[in-house]
Amino acid sequence: MKPSFLLTKSPAPLKPRSKSSKLLSYLRRMTMLSCTVTTFYALTLSGGSMKTNFWLVLLLVCSYAHTVSAHGKAAAAESSERMIQFPDVDGYVTLVADLHTHSVFSDGHVWPKIRVEEALRDGLDALAITEHLEYQPHRADIPHPDRNRSFQEASAAAEGSGLIVIAGSEITREQPTGHINAVFLQDANALFKPLENAPDDAVEYYKAAQEWPSLNAIDAANEQGAFLFINHPYWTAQKPNGIAELSKLQSKAVKAGKLHGVEVANGQDYSEEAFAFGLKNDLTLIGVSDIHDLVDWDYEPHNGGHRPVTLILAKERSAEAAKEALFAKRTVVWFRNLLIGRSSEVTALLNASLKVSGAKYQKDTEVVEVLIDNNSDASFALNNKSGYSFMHYGDRIVVPPHAQFALVVKPGKKVPQFSLTFDVENALVAPKTPATIKFQITPQSESHNK
Ligand SMILES: [Zn+2]
Ligand SMILES: [Zn+2]
Repeated sequence: MKPSFLLTKSPAPLKPRSKSSKLLSYLRRMTMLSCTVTTFYALTLSGGSMKTNFWLVLLLVCSYAHTVSAHGKAAAAESSERMIQFPDVDGYVTLVADLHTHSVFSDGHVWPKIRVEEALRDGLDALAITEHLEYQPHRADIPHPDRNRSFQEASAAAEGSGLIVIAGSEITREQPTGHINAVFLQDANALFKPLENAPDDAVEYYKAAQEWPSLNAIDAANEQGAFLFINHPYWTAQKPNGIAELSKLQSKAVKAGKLHGVEVANGQDYSEEAFAFGLKNDLTLIGVSDIHDLVDWDYEPHNGGHRPVTLILAKERSAEAAKEALFAKRTVVWFRNLLIGRSSEVTALLNASLKVSGAKYQKDTEVVEVLIDNNSDASFALNNKSGYSFMHYGDRIVVPPHAQFALVVKPGKKVPQFSLTFDVENALVAPKTPATIKFQITPQSESHNK
């Protein structure tokens, strides 16, 4: 996230395990139970030769099956399950991007190749490695005057994988500049002036590097056509009250068109104030991991967690299209179970994620079973805003990820068509403001199951 000498970490949150991983764990427990019973029989029947052989063979088969289920197919199923999945929306491809990560080339703890491996496991389309330009605590062991090295290493590691690797840097300054990421760089070295008589100590080096004006770095990035966004503006090391706001310097740069976006989610943190000033100042809304250690440690994807990402609604799957979409502000942030964005993008993503796949009157009744399909990773909490009530639920329903939800609605009598409107609790289009989704229902007359 930040220079680690100032870093404090909060514990990684846990998302409830998904249905399929619960099922896998149940199947494993059943396999283990049946194997235990088999072992018991094999051991207690050691007198009779025919029976003993039968139970011993079954024991061998069982233990093999258990090994496969624990380390083979089941493990593979779990690793594909961690992939972050949201559908494409009308007219756009939904790219999953993490635009803020670190490696050993600044204060991260892994080689860039590991960032690429993690990105592929998480199903990312695009990854930016954004080292601190001014802070390199490993420089005694990894001296690298060339600030493009980690990008080059990551690009080489990603070759042939289809992952879009984006060249970036983190301009790392005290307030009023703060930290600013520049992505889609041509040459990171232009954003940094090497120090003469550089101090050995990384913190002293960082302090000395503050001398070169930060606006020089911002200008150099803009000259390269880069996309620049403000990092973690609520960070208590630089904003002790945790309330994000634009500094005068940042505000001026925003007005001059030199800063284009802001992180509303970074690591374990969400900033409602950054969301508010992002909307007010017409900035692109960004969510990032700012990962320094391992994604597996910080987000526990094996337990259903995920890193924060930016969902970029791009015209096609390419670096150029991602950049165009970022400048056009077509993003939705995916943070914990929250979707954060502008109304147009959030609504488009909701309409692609939640669809009514069927609606029928139950036999000899005037109640309608509506099937709602959720084609995304989000668990949607919907609050009923229509005039109708439901058969089995109150006004709040939860549609689990990648699942179908059956809702029995009481329109009061047989009608050819009606609509259901919900507030989506976990999709925000402004601070404390949920998105709205509307389903047009045209029920068929015959019940399909009752
Ligand atoms: Zn960072
Ligand atoms: Zn930072």
